[in-house]
Amino acid sequence: CGIVGVLGTHEVSPIIVEALKRLEYRGYDSAGIATVNEGALDRRRAVGKLVNLSDLLVHEPLAGKSGIGHTRWATHGAPSVTNAHPHQRDAVAVVHNGIIENFKELRTELDVDGYTAETETDTETVAMLAQRFLDNGASPREAAEKTLARLDGAFALAFLFKGEDDLMVAARKGSPLAVGHGDGEMYVGSDAIALAPMTNRITYLDEGDRAVLTRNSLEIFDETGRQVSRPMKVLSMDD
Ligand code: GLU
Repeated sequence: CGIVGVLGTHEVSPIIVEALKRLEYRGYDSAGIATVNEGALDRRRAVGKLVNLSDLLVHEPLAGKSGIGHTRWATHGAPSVTNAHPHQRDAVAVVHNGIIENFKELRTELDVDGYTAETETDTETVAMLAQRFLDNGASPREAAEKTLARLDGAFALAFLFKGEDDLMVAARKGSPLAVGHGDGEMYVGSDAIALAPMTNRITYLDEGDRAVLTRNSLEIFDETGRQVSRPMKVLSMDD
């Protein structure tokens, strides 16, 4: 299971597939990618090996220079296209590694508000929560922040938003997540190995951190919401 996110300057789908391949060693049962292209969110998902996702992308290309990708190791809901990540609502797409422990309570609350689950996963709840905050007037970054404040459990998460080609929000609690710095590009990955073809300049998020990324900026907030700075490391080939 792994996560990759790219705010890039080239078409990202092939770049994300390559990065996901570098996370294959972790094991997975399905994979998927979402992009924002001229403001529009779209996604492709496939069960089984990454080659199935690559094949799908040949027949149904996914344009865009901003994207998130995922390899899934199912914990809640069978391995299927419907349950594969990214999970999406109208204006938000989410990839997630880990478990949202309180997803049942959240799902009940969302159901009362008219937000109905379409999958068996814990992760879909994250997209639904964020969409509800957006519908109630929150900005994308606020929606991600408010959503993260409601989640119990262990996770690495990355969010993309409709209409936002230059924004990604990522967070970690109990699962590692690294931010990579490019030249006019910014990345996230479950580990630095995934990002190695793109950059060796890495900022590791601390436990509880939330990162707000654009192509040219990185802001990090700790679990109390305070803005913090985390060191950027330049990794050598031997690291
Ligand atoms: N709990 C999530 C699911 O089953 C994420 C699993 C993972 O870490 O890949 O969909």
